[in-house]
Amino acid sequence: MKRTLQRSWLIFILVIAFLVGMAFLVVETVLGASDWVDQPYNGHIAGAGGLLEAGVISDRNENVLAQTVDNKRVYNDDADVRKALLHVVGDDSLNISTAIQSQFRSQLTGYSFIWGLNLPDSFRGGKDVDLTVDADTCKTAYNALKEYDSGACVIYNYETGEIICDVSIKTYDPEDPPEITKDNEDEYEGVYLDNVLSSTYTPGSIFKIVTAAAAIENIPDIWERTWTCNGKEEIDGGDVTCVEAHGTMNLKEAFGHSCNIVFAELAVELGEDVMTETAKKMGINASFKISGIKTKAGHYDVSKATTHQLAWSGVGQYEDKVNPIQMAILCGAIARKGTPVIPYLVEGTSGSMLKDMGLAGSASNGEKMLDSDTAKSLKELMRFAVQNDYGDDMFGGLTVCAKTGTGETLISEGNDKNDGWMVGFATDKDVPLAFACIVRGSSNYGYSTAGQVAKAAMIQAADSLRNEKD
Ligand SMILES: [Zn+2]
Repeated sequence: MKRTLQRSWLIFILVIAFLVGMAFLVVETVLGASDWVDQPYNGHIAGAGGLLEAGVISDRNENVLAQTVDNKRVYNDDADVRKALLHVVGDDSLNISTAIQSQFRSQLTGYSFIWGLNLPDSFRGGKDVDLTVDADTCKTAYNALKEYDSGACVIYNYETGEIICDVSIKTYDPEDPPEITKDNEDEYEGVYLDNVLSSTYTPGSIFKIVTAAAAIENIPDIWERTWTCNGKEEIDGGDVTCVEAHGTMNLKEAFGHSCNIVFAELAVELGEDVMTETAKKMGINASFKISGIKTKAGHYDVSKATTHQLAWSGVGQYEDKVNPIQMAILCGAIARKGTPVIPYLVEGTSGSMLKDMGLAGSASNGEKMLDSDTAKSLKELMRFAVQNDYGDDMFGGLTVCAKTGTGETLISEGNDKNDGWMVGFATDKDVPLAFACIVRGSSNYGYSTAGQVAKAAMIQAADSLRNEKD
């Protein structure tokens, strides 16, 4: 009797253990299936093997960017387009984690939550993914960028959210990927990063947009004031310098000439709290989700800064960092009375899967970054900068508001090269485009480096969009 009882207990325990195990398996299968299927050990989907199952990736004008032909993944037939869109599309290696072939793998392979890959093609959702980018614009931006060490150029439609251009260098041809070894890893440093989404840089003078916003909102007589720049001024025991003596200026002229002394003085007058609050509201420390892909947040923190460092923070030096697409979003906000539309990259698929999952793009507002009056004033300052300092014919007839910048990080690292920026937007109703371009490793200023990339890419983007409408 005692023995029977012991056996019953043993069987009872085994049954409980079996049921707990089954429950665990069921829960894991339901909740974790999409993760499992994406794991590298699942050769059916991950890696080049998985990509062979993947659908066609196209740009906004149905140019094929990637597809499977004769059991091989092939990319666009223009090598420049392939290199320009490497970071958006991805390659067979899946090393670029933010690329569509990495991020949208299950959608591209038609993987079904319930049926896995066991459905015939005709029953699977659409496997093709349509992107918002324009291959021609990306190619143009790439050709303007490629002479530099590294950089990025992003353009998006600030009314609809569609990303027209997302180009990052360093890059390579996905049809001929480099073998990166210890010997050549310096040459390819950062090559797997989409700098548009995943890198931050010293902003230099483009940060004067933030300091100007803080000044406009907090200094009542800001428009009546004038300043005199002698090229150098001592603030808190250290010098703040300009490239030249700018003479006497009002705010507009100081912004256009990009006078460091004026904006350094303003940052000190506004103080740590106002500068921090304004930078936060304008999204400098924020990360955004672009078609589900998280961007790298920028950095503005003066909590431990001396007054001298606070001064430099107002002209985009000190420890300031910004991300390219975040700056484009900010420019979109300025163009739209303070509230940005958040950009997106994936338009949809040939089926309804992405729409069902809420992943297909559509215009959606982000948080308000500026009061509408401040946005209007910044727009005037940025318009004035183009008209008086950069040249109004620069963008081939587009009406552009912009700001250039030169981030001097590399100089302080003992290098004579620096980072050039141009950010801005066109006010033309038919081509509402905001942009941010950064070029690393040139000894020239932002206007002649990033400015020329922005110019070429914006003119092409406007042409492409206008041709679509014809
Ligand atoms: Zn100056």
